[in-house]
Amino acid sequence: MNRVLIIGAGGVGGVVAHKCARAPEVFHEICLASRTLEKCRRIAVELPRPIRVARVDADRTPDVVRLIRSFRPNLVIHVALPYQDLAIMDACLATGVDYLDTANYEPPDKAKFEYKWQWAYRGRFRRKGIMGLLGCGFDPGATNVFCAYALKHFFDEIHTVDIMDCNAGQHGHPFATNFNPEINIREITQRGRYWEKGRWVETEPLSVHRSFDFPEIGPREMYLMYHEELESLVRHLPGLRRIRFWMTFSQEYLTHLRVLQNVGMTRIDPVLYEGRPVVPLKFLKAVLPEPSSLGPNYRGKTNIGCLIEGVRKGRRKKVYIYNVCDHAACYREVKAQAISYTTGVPAMIGARLMLTGQWRGRGVFNVEEFDPDPFMERMNLDGLPWVVKTLR
Ligand code: NDP
Repeated sequence: MNRVLIIGAGGVGGVVAHKCARAPEVFHEICLASRTLEKCRRIAVELPRPIRVARVDADRTPDVVRLIRSFRPNLVIHVALPYQDLAIMDACLATGVDYLDTANYEPPDKAKFEYKWQWAYRGRFRRKGIMGLLGCGFDPGATNVFCAYALKHFFDEIHTVDIMDCNAGQHGHPFATNFNPEINIREITQRGRYWEKGRWVETEPLSVHRSFDFPEIGPREMYLMYHEELESLVRHLPGLRRIRFWMTFSQEYLTHLRVLQNVGMTRIDPVLYEGRPVVPLKFLKAVLPEPSSLGPNYRGKTNIGCLIEGVRKGRRKKVYIYNVCDHAACYREVKAQAISYTTGVPAMIGARLMLTGQWRGRGVFNVEEFDPDPFMERMNLDGLPWVVKTLR
């Protein structure tokens, strides 16, 4: 009997709940838990079969332990916020339950994206005989699997990777973020960083950009950023010489962001307001649209993929692997926009592979450490079909 506990009832949590509910042969019982119970209930009534709902503050390990002891899941799918990663991993350790997430831990008071805190759990997870799967969304997640698939089937050695994330959708709001506003803005306002010839190279935020002609979308300006999958792929792709991450932004989005930064609304340190400490970015999150509310009017497509160069049998080779997703089609299927969808579906696939024993291990892993074939096969079946273009 497989029982899965989903923590987080936002845009991504809703998609994971929908997709797990539609696969009763693997996910026999489901509990959706979050800080606001009402949000779990709202998702639960849309599902094709009954699930349990619960309120939990996942910043508090004892509360998560109590919930795990009462529901007795085999696996916790954590799709709340990165701040809760370690508290939930501690609860999994205390109860001997497997763990999966889609974003690496960030300390709330410093926007810092590193796997070191979670990789430090490897020994403890191994000794407890449980598995932790990190970064199993789209990027990180499917993009790491694309690299592993390319290495397995098309290359003897991969030399360069460019991960390119394009959202060409229109949601009708002057400014909104496609996943949690606080996490999203912390990420985008960081200095850029890529890895080349064995060292990290830093750039000013969003200062390096170029145009790329995205299939099914057309030319879009994309900006070099740091993204967490670079850290694990540098370790797991032998022979790698350079890896970069790019994301597209519209001029409208960048102008809003610049103004918000200039007036101090993206600060993450508390400011005294009428005698009370207020974190400007948290207040901004409270007035921006919730990612889960963007779906109904979203039009257009996303294209996320990896442009990979290397050698096969002594010859240079270039391959582009990508997925295109349509916002309106996602909404028709699971009442979510494509960013929540492209994150939630890979999380469900990773959970399926863990529960069916196709991906197993003791310790803490990144997705590219496992056989990419069953994951790629499931992407085609579960709503994220991919394309491989051989360019050289
Ligand atoms: P949302 O803001 O829509 O949802 C977050 C949910 O987590 C909310 O329901 C929120 O509850 C809940 N939550 C927050 N804090 C706690 C807590 N202490 N205890 C319990 N529940 C809590 O965000 P998204 O769904 O868009 O994103 C979810 C995650 O997915 C994020 O970590 C994000 O970084 C990650 N992500 C990963 C991607 C990838 O490709 N790898 C891409 C996009 C997102 P409440 O409503 O009460 O605040």
